[in-house]
Amino acid sequence: MSSALRVVVLAGGVGGSKFTLGVREALRRRDAGEPTVVINTGDDLWLSGVRLQPDVDSVVYALAGVNDTQRGWGRTGDTERVNHQLQAWGAGWPWFTLGDLDLGTHLARTGWLRDGLAPTDVLARMSQRWPLGARLLPMTDSEVDTWVVLEDGSRLHFQEWWTRHRATLVPVAFENPGISAARPAPGVAEAIETADIVLIAPSNPVVSIGPILAVPGVRDALRSTSASVVGVSPIIGGRVVRGMADVCLTAIGVETTSTGVAAHYGARMSDGLLDAWLLAEEDAASAAIVEGLGIHPVVAPLWMTDVDATAAIVEAALDAGA
Ligand code: GDP
Ligand code: CA
Repeated sequence: MSSALRVVVLAGGVGGSKFTLGVREALRRRDAGEPTVVINTGDDLWLSGVRLQPDVDSVVYALAGVNDTQRGWGRTGDTERVNHQLQAWGAGWPWFTLGDLDLGTHLARTGWLRDGLAPTDVLARMSQRWPLGARLLPMTDSEVDTWVVLEDGSRLHFQEWWTRHRATLVPVAFENPGISAARPAPGVAEAIETADIVLIAPSNPVVSIGPILAVPGVRDALRSTSASVVGVSPIIGGRVVRGMADVCLTAIGVETTSTGVAAHYGARMSDGLLDAWLLAEEDAASAAIVEGLGIHPVVAPLWMTDVDATAAIVEAALDAGA
């Protein structure tokens, strides 16, 4: 006998999609149904007339098994014929590559948006092409960009800061203009409120999980749900595993440590979000600090090296939330 476990995952792109593969696998092994994944859309942008949703596509491609695991983004086996033409026209951004297969996704999405579909409906339609084994929801249907504020007060789009400058320009803040008027996408608050467990993926706490939590209503749903909220540390041994989350954390005054991120999310008992926090074996000595914050600490291997290792992380998180 098995029964469905209503699991909601809050996720960004690369870390979020890897983690989602592990969630899907762990639930399959328990014959416990499919997870609902709420995906960051703060990275979204318009470029050359098409709507890009980098984190959404990372999750879709990973679940479909068509993602380029070497490169870390886009479709495996993609080519760049259209991109060369865009560059020859001086269109788009010279430092931002759009693969041909990937452009097919962007064109399909943009066409549906132009037809009047909301991003939630577009994602539902995109979820039908491959058997993804998960229900995917964008965090919001509102268009929310991320802007990076530099020391001299100038601003640039998150994608330019991240991809072109590799996060080398020192940020002092991240802004999501218009987010205070955004609403959770249909189904997001309900999924959180009726969940058995909510998992915060080991994604970038500032620019992936941050925008999800900043959508008015999401934090309230997390605070009021009867589900346990369990976070998984994206920091192992005081370092980001991949990417440039440390620069983002420093900008908002959070230490790049597992406990720093746990404190940033906070304990549910003191106005925060977390009931439990998974920290890496490398950080086992910090478990007492997490406990002191009022969050149940669970020490586990946190390297998402393959789907088995990730499913084991998810098992530990599900046990912590049970
Ligand atoms: P992005 O949207 O593509 O930047 O990806 P995410 O925000 O979803 O994930 C990026 C974060 O994943 C990085 O900041 C890393 O700290 C984290 N990460 C990547 N690989 C691993 C891993 O194997 N284990 C853990 N614990 N975290 C990881
Ligand atoms: Ca992202």
